[in-house]
Amino acid sequence: GIPATPPRPLATRRKSRQIMVGNVPVGGDAPVSVQSMTTTRTSDINATLQQIAELTAAGCQIVRVAVPTNDDAEALAVIAKKSQIPVIADIHFQPKYVYAAIDAGCAAVRVNPGNIKKFDDQVKEIAKAAGDAGTPIRIGVNAGSLDKRLLAKYGKATPEALVESALWECSLFEEHGFRDIKISVKHNDPVVMVNAYRQLASACDYPLHLGVTEAGPAFQGTIKSAVAFGALLSEGIGDTIRVSLSAPPSEEIKVGNQILESLGLRERGLEIVSCPSCGRAQVDVYTLAEEVTAGLEGMDVPLRVAVMGCVVNGPGEARDADLGVASGNGKGQIFVKGEVIKTVPESKIVETLIEEALRIAEEMGEG
Ligand code: SF4
Repeated sequence: GIPATPPRPLATRRKSRQIMVGNVPVGGDAPVSVQSMTTTRTSDINATLQQIAELTAAGCQIVRVAVPTNDDAEALAVIAKKSQIPVIADIHFQPKYVYAAIDAGCAAVRVNPGNIKKFDDQVKEIAKAAGDAGTPIRIGVNAGSLDKRLLAKYGKATPEALVESALWECSLFEEHGFRDIKISVKHNDPVVMVNAYRQLASACDYPLHLGVTEAGPAFQGTIKSAVAFGALLSEGIGDTIRVSLSAPPSEEIKVGNQILESLGLRERGLEIVSCPSCGRAQVDVYTLAEEVTAGLEGMDVPLRVAVMGCVVNGPGEARDADLGVASGNGKGQIFVKGEVIKTVPESKIVETLIEEALRIAEEMGEG
């Protein structure tokens, strides 16, 4: 069989404490996990569980649900119980929902120090409830809802302001012996966000949840997140990630997983390598690459498939690929590990590649 591409991290990981979000370890030497958030009304239990199932199928490892109302809080117990992956309750204004989420068996609770002034008086009680239940807390600072005191002090949501807010909230929990914490300091500007996380990374040893908030529609949000997470993860900073897109949440998971694969932080899944095409191309490379991608979608095997526009350089350029095609003269040379194994008419390229991919996948014992 063909061995999987081994992970090759760019940097030594920052040393962080490890917490358990349900059965998913976050921090320490645990693999960087990918999470998303549902967009359904949490009180609509069926719709929420359906979306969680879709997210799980897309490779989501932890899911967060919003808890703005009492109905949502009441839905948590069933959702936490039936979800295939750990559920984090996202709570902003109402401390009472924190207790509800802990009682409901949520894997963690996210609180926003900027939105819950009332929390400060209740930290002792929350720390006790969370500590007794073994429920970690994410302290999730957000530029858009920064603590007013810090906004006044710094004038705007600077990296220093975000970090001070997070560490202040941590200190309140620490006073009560509670350290089962992870932190996020999100901003919509990747530069501010990267600086905030760098400062946070050197100021504490809590695991960090990376996010660029309000990253935008899919194209812009994907790039902003990839650039920001890439900068931080390549310095060993970041223990779990959430890509925020104004797009269906399973898109966030695809992007998140792709970022980790690109950085060598996760074993590569199916990877389509296609040439950019040039004046030598004898086939419409873009369409062919899209058809091959669509045909192989959902194959969960570490396979690198090359789609090349011509036979001049095709096989040579794609020698690292497991499987590929180089087109020319209305035909496609199908090659495996750089060796041409057969030539098929152009109309048969996609189906032949799929057949060969399945054959290789079967050889790898995962087909
Ligand atoms: Fe150009 Fe051929 Fe290289 Fe594609 S494989 S970029 S068509 S030379």
